[in-house]
Amino acid sequence: MYSAKNFEHLLGTEGFSDTLLKNHFTLYEGYVKNTNMFLERLQTLAKEEKATPGEFAELKRRLGWEWNGMRLHELYFGNMENGGIELGKGEQIEEKIIASFGSMEAWEKEFKATGAMRGIGWAILTYDHEADILMNVWINEHDVGHLAGTTPLLIMDVFEHAFMTDYGIKRADYIEAFMNAIDWSVVNERLVKACDCKA
Ligand code: FE
Repeated sequence: MYSAKNFEHLLGTEGFSDTLLKNHFTLYEGYVKNTNMFLERLQTLAKEEKATPGEFAELKRRLGWEWNGMRLHELYFGNMENGGIELGKGEQIEEKIIASFGSMEAWEKEFKATGAMRGIGWAILTYDHEADILMNVWINEHDVGHLAGTTPLLIMDVFEHAFMTDYGIKRADYIEAFMNAIDWSVVNERLVKACDCKA
């Protein structure tokens, strides 16, 4: 079973009100609670063999939605820091972004455009082990569009709850605030761990 992580150190982050962040933490805790509830129920059903096919299938389907909602929020809050942590010179993540997108600017433009897409979901910079490249990916809600076998490195929430309290419908302003709050040391660490590409 999973425990909700504490991200209160993010309170006070520039561009994010405490009200917005506290509500967002509460929403995240709901995903952890539901993930545990579904897992427990599925375990019980497995023991009792009483599940109707519909109940079993629905729990299995919804588990992916709740679980990804939980994990994506952990990765999202985990790659933020008040004021942001800048990209260190010559870090692997910079080299990999330039190799994959041509330049940091070209990557940033596409990442922001991914986050600005209509709909609710996530923009993710992900690492494909197979081709050794990075890609920006749109995840619809929490569960549609994940690229199997890739490792998510940088995650941006673009559900309306992530910005409406502070920015109304100005999603681009929120995206700007998020870009300034990225902890690049975490993103780099995630890549190094995933690709085993030591400096
Ligand atoms: Fe969210």
